[in-house]
Amino acid sequence: MKYQAPRGTYDILPEDIKKWHYIENIIRKLTSLYNYSEVRTPIFEQLDLFQRSVGEDTDIVEKEMYTFEDKKGRNLALRPEGTASIARMVAERNLQSSKKEPLRLWYEGPMFRYSRPQKGRHRQFYQFGVECIGSPKPIVDAEIIAIGWQILQEAKVPDVSLEINSVGCPDCRDKYNILLKNFLYKDRDKYCEDCQRRMEQNPLRVFDCKNNICRHLIVNAPRMLDNLCEECAQHFKEVKKNLEMMNVPFTVNPEIVRGLDYYTKTAFEYKINYLGAQDALGGGGRYDGLIEYLGGKQIPAVGLSMGLERIILSLEKSGFSFPEEDNLEVFIIPIGAEALQASIDMMQELHKADISAVVADENSSIGNNLKLCDKNNVSFAVLIGGNELKSGLYVVKNIKKKSQSEVIKEEVINFIKTNEGVA
Ligand SMILES: [Zn+2]
Ligand SMILES: [Zn+2]
Repeated sequence: MKYQAPRGTYDILPEDIKKWHYIENIIRKLTSLYNYSEVRTPIFEQLDLFQRSVGEDTDIVEKEMYTFEDKKGRNLALRPEGTASIARMVAERNLQSSKKEPLRLWYEGPMFRYSRPQKGRHRQFYQFGVECIGSPKPIVDAEIIAIGWQILQEAKVPDVSLEINSVGCPDCRDKYNILLKNFLYKDRDKYCEDCQRRMEQNPLRVFDCKNNICRHLIVNAPRMLDNLCEECAQHFKEVKKNLEMMNVPFTVNPEIVRGLDYYTKTAFEYKINYLGAQDALGGGGRYDGLIEYLGGKQIPAVGLSMGLERIILSLEKSGFSFPEEDNLEVFIIPIGAEALQASIDMMQELHKADISAVVADENSSIGNNLKLCDKNNVSFAVLIGGNELKSGLYVVKNIKKKSQSEVIKEEVINFIKTNEGVA
């Protein structure tokens, strides 16, 4: 074997694509019902965009980015997540300037992170995201949270729970950081090296550390949620009230801080019981400062993102049977080369009627071609040979019913349409 897919990547095979289509169709449907428009941004961006927006001292930027220099020496990176590109697009194109309603956008596509591959975690993975840009109102936070919730419900993902928190605004966070720093400094030397560095630059980040010692040390740390300013506290109260009005069940978890620098106020995660442990399917939050930070206007925004692999994996684990996609409907079997033109004409007529059809190998035996019908789960075979050409009557076999009829050439499409689904 000469080549294999790079470590941490994988192929989506024909027999698996139905799973992707299934969840993608639900995403399309729900985002459309809430009037969100799809956007597609480049797969690579300036490296600096992610360093600024995701944050220099995050695992993503420090360890996990695919970075490269192009032939002109520009520093670029494959996108590790989607929100930075959306914020860059809004800032660059001034998209929010003339609109009174918030801008409602969604995206889906591959993201790239150099992390240790494991089940459900890949170096190229697929994410979708929903972003509402231009409104500071708590109802919009609730709308975003509800869309993600509804997508998971509609997709029948089992045992999902929703946890929400507030990470405050720059005002209350500055005051809180001092409190938190004082707490962390008491046991400064006991934390891992990363955390010791992080407590200087961004002490909130210590909550993200996966190290067990750090996790244990931080259990009794003061929480942002207990130290919100009045405006942030009021905002959080209304988000909770609006979620109740929308019948979206949630619990408050003060540990949800999200790994990225740009979040303000609301932060949330959708959790599942994943491979025996609680894990996040995705989440999001408000990022009121990001667009301005990237050179745009001061535009408030809120969004979510979720990984498709984990949604699919949790459905597979629950034994969910994904809806089958359409098989080939008609296999046209020319009996000898003289029937090839008539077979191709028949195929093109069927395509015009939106019926899938291909022409079989005219040199293969009828028996072999009929065997292929069974193998490929074909519904009908149309046999065209010398006799059929003369009489204008084609033999149509209903493969599943194991019956056959002679049908006038011009009536074949009607015949297939009326017998469709009859097995
Ligand atoms: Zn605040
Ligand atoms: Zn640590």
